[in-house]
Amino acid sequence: MSPATLATTDVIIVGAGVTGIAVAYHLQARNIRFVILEADEDVGGTWLRNKWHGARVDSEVVRYAFSFMLEIPCKELWNRGEVLDYLKRTLLVTGIDRHLMLRTRVQRATFATDRNIWTVETPLGSYEAGHLINCNGFGANVPNIPTFEGMEAFRGKVIHACDLDEKTRFDGQNVVLVGSGATAISTAPALSDVSKSLVILQRSPSYIYEVDNRLGWFARLCRTLHGAGVPFAGATLRWKNTVEGDLYFLLIRCFPRLGRAFFRWHWRDAATDAYHAEYLTPRYPPYTQRIPKAVGLKQRLLTGTIAFRNGSIKRFGDRSIVLASGEELPCEVCILATGFKLGVFSFPLSCDGLPIDVRSVNWYKTLMMGSVPNYFHPFGCFHCSWTQRVEQLARLIADVIVHVRTRRYSRVWVERKAVPFDPVFRPNFLMREEHLPRPYGLFELPTLDQLVSFRLCTSHELRFA
Ligand SMILES: Cc1cc2nc3c(=O)[nH]c(=O)nc-3n(C[C@H](O)[C@H](O)[C@H](O)COP(=O)(O)OP(=O)(O)OC[C@H]3O[C@@H](n4cnc5c(N)ncnc54)[C@H](O)[C@@H]3O)c2cc1C
Repeated sequence: MSPATLATTDVIIVGAGVTGIAVAYHLQARNIRFVILEADEDVGGTWLRNKWHGARVDSEVVRYAFSFMLEIPCKELWNRGEVLDYLKRTLLVTGIDRHLMLRTRVQRATFATDRNIWTVETPLGSYEAGHLINCNGFGANVPNIPTFEGMEAFRGKVIHACDLDEKTRFDGQNVVLVGSGATAISTAPALSDVSKSLVILQRSPSYIYEVDNRLGWFARLCRTLHGAGVPFAGATLRWKNTVEGDLYFLLIRCFPRLGRAFFRWHWRDAATDAYHAEYLTPRYPPYTQRIPKAVGLKQRLLTGTIAFRNGSIKRFGDRSIVLASGEELPCEVCILATGFKLGVFSFPLSCDGLPIDVRSVNWYKTLMMGSVPNYFHPFGCFHCSWTQRVEQLARLIADVIVHVRTRRYSRVWVERKAVPFDPVFRPNFLMREEHLPRPYGLFELPTLDQLVSFRLCTSHELRFA
């Protein structure tokens, strides 16, 4: 161990968000030693950083919670505080907290082919391990802030949703919320409660699904049984929801007219036909983009505390936003729910001192990247629960590392090769990034993926030496 080396272990995990915790659990279950290096002062990643009003999960708790610590609360969706509490509880209950190094930002990582060792550098010193698992989430997490004419002269405030704090109130102020994705739809009801008026300004409409955040009868039954310690009650609900979600996905993708009719029916009690056609009917077929879930939007549309407008911003006035159509929206606050710039890496990788070129690299099962040895980069998915996929990936990682050990290999990798970039979902933040790693080897249907995709025995792409 060189003087600057702080620890040598089997595996280094970068990041203590949902993914890092899932991976740590499954390594621990297979007696693989690890350390988690986390840049922030606390765990939680996404849920620690995003403090905007109404920040919450879109996936039902039973699918978002880990399978090894399944919880079924009395409501369907957790808010950010509840997710953070849950993650901290998980760390304590599983003992993973003992392997956690907070305030430890990884600056670079390099693989030495003569020793088959990754060395990870942090401001405090370096760590060494045979395998590196990068759970750094959306990498850089830089907010996407468009610029508009007149923005600097605007006498109100322009705030990106990432910089919002749920404690801030906008009493007496008119707020324009720009965007129509998951963030805008989650935050709108909560923001409208702390402002004078709220307009959701969207370039074009999205499909939105409103939930009342209460459990249905089957979920209530499973919750009671799960609480009484009946085995498989929670897992049954989780599987039922997963299969149901996949069936809806397939049905709506195969019969888009049926999907459109469903959404019209869904909004019948809150929007007239004309309002629905103008503000809630997208140009694209349903389920080709992620469908945001709303809680309390219908009621606020009915009472007029939230209104939609379509249009693109031409310029900012003194105290207003002027649309390309000429319409002027008076406001003192403009909140940009315009997403972020997706980055997959928050630190550079190198091999024997040479930088690894990860531009457009093939990304097998969103887990391993072409020609990067002993390196795993698990990533969730956009149209179902993140946790469900990363847990499957975490199990596969543990299987692969155990396989490497028992067969006395020292290296595992996938070959570098060209694969098309053809994601099932094409959100703007994904499509505007060039050279992202290119996923392949998945079905993108959680049911099928869980049954087939994440089995070591079906992974013909892996190479061992
Ligand atoms: C508001 C919001 C709602 C969402 N809702 C859902 C939902 O309903 N369902 C769903 O499935 N997904 C949802 N997502 C996606 C969400 O990002 C994932 O569910 C999940 O939280 C991602 O976890 P992660 O651990 O991969 O990444 P993150 O949560 O981003 O965690 C990454 C961690 O790595 C650390 N890190 C990064 N770089 C370094 C470095 N160089 N050195 C050390 N540490 C580093 C970060 O500090 C962070 O703690 C939502 C996202 C947002 C923003």
